[in-house]
Amino acid sequence: MRYAKVVPDIPTRAIDGCFDYAIPDALAGSCDVGCTVLVSFAHRLAVGYVVDVVSELAEGVNPLRVLPVERVLAEPAFDRVGARLAQWMAAEYAAPASVCLRLMLAPGQTTRVHKDEAGEWRLAVDRTKAVDDRWAQLSVTGRGFVPRRNASRQRRVVEALAAGPMRVAELSAMVPGAGSVVTALAKRGLVEVEHRRRIRGVGEPTSLSSASAPRPDHLTDGQLAALDAIARATDAGCGDVVLVDGVTGSGKTEVYLDAIERVRERGRSAIVLVPEISLTAQTVGRFRSRFGDDVAILHSRLSSGERFDQWDLARSGRVHVVVGARSALFAPLSNVGLVIVDEEHEGSYKQDQAPRYHAREAAAELARLRGAALVLGSATPSLESLERCRAGSWRGVRWTRVSMPERPGGSRLPSVRIIDMRSTFSPKGGSVFSSPLRDALLDRAEKREKSVLLLNRRGFASFLMCRECGCVPTCPHCSTALTYHERTHSLACHTCGSAWPVRAYPDPSTKCPNCGSRYLAQYGVGTQRVEDELRMLLPEDVDVIRMDADTTATKGAHTRLLEQFDASECAVLVGTQMIAKGLDFPEVTLVGVVNADTTLKLPDFRAAERTYNLLEQVAGRAGRGERPGEVIIQTYWATHPAISAVATHDRSSYLGYELEQRDEAYYPPYSRLANLTLAGLSERAVRERASALAVKIRARVEGMEGEWEVLGPAECVRSKVKDRYRRHIVVKAPVDAELGPLLDECARALPACKGVTLAIDVDAYDM
Ligand code: ADP
Ligand code: ZN
Ligand code: ZN
Repeated sequence: MRYAKVVPDIPTRAIDGCFDYAIPDALAGSCDVGCTVLVSFAHRLAVGYVVDVVSELAEGVNPLRVLPVERVLAEPAFDRVGARLAQWMAAEYAAPASVCLRLMLAPGQTTRVHKDEAGEWRLAVDRTKAVDDRWAQLSVTGRGFVPRRNASRQRRVVEALAAGPMRVAELSAMVPGAGSVVTALAKRGLVEVEHRRRIRGVGEPTSLSSASAPRPDHLTDGQLAALDAIARATDAGCGDVVLVDGVTGSGKTEVYLDAIERVRERGRSAIVLVPEISLTAQTVGRFRSRFGDDVAILHSRLSSGERFDQWDLARSGRVHVVVGARSALFAPLSNVGLVIVDEEHEGSYKQDQAPRYHAREAAAELARLRGAALVLGSATPSLESLERCRAGSWRGVRWTRVSMPERPGGSRLPSVRIIDMRSTFSPKGGSVFSSPLRDALLDRAEKREKSVLLLNRRGFASFLMCRECGCVPTCPHCSTALTYHERTHSLACHTCGSAWPVRAYPDPSTKCPNCGSRYLAQYGVGTQRVEDELRMLLPEDVDVIRMDADTTATKGAHTRLLEQFDASECAVLVGTQMIAKGLDFPEVTLVGVVNADTTLKLPDFRAAERTYNLLEQVAGRAGRGERPGEVIIQTYWATHPAISAVATHDRSSYLGYELEQRDEAYYPPYSRLANLTLAGLSERAVRERASALAVKIRARVEGMEGEWEVLGPAECVRSKVKDRYRRHIVVKAPVDAELGPLLDECARALPACKGVTLAIDVDAYDM
């Protein structure tokens, strides 16, 4: 008898772990690791995932009490390593194992079941179904002739097919009603019809010139050293990590391409993670131009059918390279030899809902489990990674840093100027551009060169502020500042989506909710405002292209805008954070930052790190070609090390400052930090629950080795979201502490409490 170890998909904190089920003979051939199955659990039917198949029950389990697997609902989606990765995530991030396993399922697979007409249990609507295309081709043996009567459509179809096989859908575009004509011709043996599997989501080829950068003749010393270290790590096959610490434009992508080529030659495959935002046609194009059809692309802008096809390319072994966002880590590739995480410092690698995993950490675990190597790349590596490289190892795995301080082909890092905006203050408001930035923009327009303008608006969009009392209208459900939308004259909450009209701003009837003053003024600038000012400033023949959440809302808009910028003879690209990363346009000679310090003011210990990273990244967009680049940074806080270090290209001065701050306050990379958020409609219930949990945690960590700090409970920065009150507890622990299991244990130890939810965020990024 064989037994399946099944994790039931019942996401409650009380039920976790796996249970043994017998595999009946009828299912012996189909019930394997990675399958979704139907089992009976606590007297009810439940969907579950098979994480292992064994031939003996665990000791002490009575075989007579073991229930059978009822049905196999879906084919294997993961292997034993995938199952172990999910179980590792469950423990590390205090998340239910079933929720982690869901990450491994085929895209589009639901977790609900229903009974079909035949009375069989099936997974509810599966939108992933593979799609076949009908292709028509003239039959070689067909001997019929096309009759004159009613002949014109038939003849046109036959004529079109003379050139070779063609999709029936395409034929229909040329000959209306071709579908039925083909069927008729096929009946008479004139045409053969074949069903071919269609692969969705490959995407349109891009015209971006840099998407297919030619392969360089010579690699730089830095690139060779990096490839060498990666080759050693790959051959060692035990999860060794190589951090490629290369300035912007130093050729990191080129290193990834060569490293992948090497593992492919050895018959192994590779996974490349790129932040969602920089997963542009440009990045994808470079992988495609090197590896052609051997690449699958996975990201959230694909439909679930498209995602399924790309995922299935990996599962069926038809591709050996998967490029994608965070979730590509769980692609069912076999024989993975290399995992690459580009821009490893990116905060977006931390998932903000359960399981709250960090893709870099999960990638490290995956590489270890698969006997592969992990490559991390960044121009601004995370403090965590730098610290592990300095120590030489982390969790028993070797960490090596390779530095690539130069750009190839003699292109130099841009010169950076800081403009102190306090000296340009004008009480009348004035322009968003200082005169040096204005002059530089005009100069580029005259020279017909390209510029990039960054508007740093993370956390601070445009909002209304009362000029008398300083109050900012906030959402009554969420306590977040409302964002002002110029186009629709409305105030919107970006947390819950509520919106209120502001009648004809600045309408005197709009009053401050706090003091009744009529002087509400717009504070903070939006991309729209920058675009408008640019159009007034620059000659008409300069293209102004705006890229932000609004202009990229539709599918493909991102690529179109970049293509427009690429094709333009002289243009300015204005945008938010999304333009800071990964763009490689050699003709850009000017990068301007409108407001460098907004991120510095966030109530967050990573504020300076984020600001430094962003500025360094966006500065790296300038001067990637032959002409030198210039960067102009406007700020009200010119002396902050995170800003001044960008100007001097001296990372160590910033790092020294940052590490000292972190050390003093016991923050990562010197500690691990978890954020536990409790939320509920009753303020009292949340308060009581939070206190009880804090007491529990304090008692648990009492006397533990190393430095432990339990802070709070306190109100969250956003103390109310969608009418739910929020309090949180912050736990700081030694870097090697097993924080997840400990917090999970504390949470489980509390009696159940209806109406208050708990979110445990281990290694929290946003608080
Ligand atoms: P990064 O990923 O570090 O920002 P890229 O790999 O995008 O850098 O390289 C920047 C530019 O330099 C690209 O246009 C790339 O084609 C080019 N490049 C990379 N390596 C070399 C090399 N060894 N010689 C010449 N050009 C190179
Ligand atoms: Zn007021
Ligand atoms: Zn709201």
